[in-house]
Amino acid sequence: MMAAPRLEIDLEKIYHNASSLVKRLACRGISVTGVTKATLGSAEIATTLLRAGVSALGDSRIENIEAMRLAQVPATMVLIRSPMLSQVKRVIKHVDVSFNTEIEVIRKLSLEAQETDRTHGVILMVELGDLREGIMPDDLIDTVRETLSLPNILFKGIGTNLACRCGVSPDGKNMTMLSELADTLESTFGLTLEIISGGNSANLGWALNGAEIGRINDLRLGEAILLGCETLHRQPIDGLHTDAITLSAEVIEAKVKPSQPSGKIAQTAFGEAPTATDRGLVTQAILAVGQQDIDPCGLIAPAGIDVMGASSDHLILESDRFELSVGAEVSFQLNYSALVRAMTSPFVTKIMTSASTDND
Ligand SMILES: *Cc1c(COP(=O)(O)O)cnc(C)c1O
Repeated sequence: MMAAPRLEIDLEKIYHNASSLVKRLACRGISVTGVTKATLGSAEIATTLLRAGVSALGDSRIENIEAMRLAQVPATMVLIRSPMLSQVKRVIKHVDVSFNTEIEVIRKLSLEAQETDRTHGVILMVELGDLREGIMPDDLIDTVRETLSLPNILFKGIGTNLACRCGVSPDGKNMTMLSELADTLESTFGLTLEIISGGNSANLGWALNGAEIGRINDLRLGEAILLGCETLHRQPIDGLHTDAITLSAEVIEAKVKPSQPSGKIAQTAFGEAPTATDRGLVTQAILAVGQQDIDPCGLIAPAGIDVMGASSDHLILESDRFELSVGAEVSFQLNYSALVRAMTSPFVTKIMTSASTDND
């Protein structure tokens, strides 16, 4: 019997997704930085992305980059979250290029790079409306001026990140602003920017639907490659696999129970007020997986099975169509939040396969 719960990761499907996006974006003059943060620095997945033609690997966590370095994954490593001051030494040692928004951090990176006789690439992130990370556009010139003056720092380019905190969509307007900022910097400082990084999986609609690309020449893609969907409306992307990664868990109890709890109702394990309507008797199954391993709202169950809720270690399902007996397994597709939790949980076994015959 296979271990449960487990993630089954089909590397050929991931290869297909990555390769398809790399090719489609190449036609638009855009390279792909493969984002590995949801995979906990998996060397197998990283290598698959590189085989599919991504130009660099991006991760938000230094630990993941260190893991990939240790596994000798041969790639340009990009830290796509601003470095912590407390991690500057590790960043200079293991990372080729980091995304930055604070000059204080870049100064520290420069000092450490000088001390260890290394050079470190810097991409400055610009705030264009989503109100997560980014330098305000009016402050960009000053930050670039000082960045250019810092020893052992290579100013590589600029980038922006949308659709994360506030769901602001990448569009002609904000992408043109980024292109114009690139032009302004080049003419002000007499330099050529190597990278103009337009965004993440949420940019695919903009990038592939014939819009004016301007100066954007790189996108950072994670979710679209792993889950096969765009992220503005979470619709499947044409020609990509949405089932490259599945979660299987095992039934540990199967009983017919009332749908309505009995007794005086207070808070649940996670502090919510329970909501139950009386639907008579229901066929309930419990899977041995919980909030510690997945986001129950992010599990997509097979048709005919409903996810009713979860505590730390128990996932409750209902089904009147399937016989979910003890020892049976149920497999789910996952959204990003369920995926990152499952990847991070030491209780979930990860199994890499290459089951697909699709070798495109
Ligand atoms: C996570 C992240 C990405 C990748 O986002 P996806 O939606 O997974 O494509 C890109 N850029 C930054 C800065 C990120 O933090």
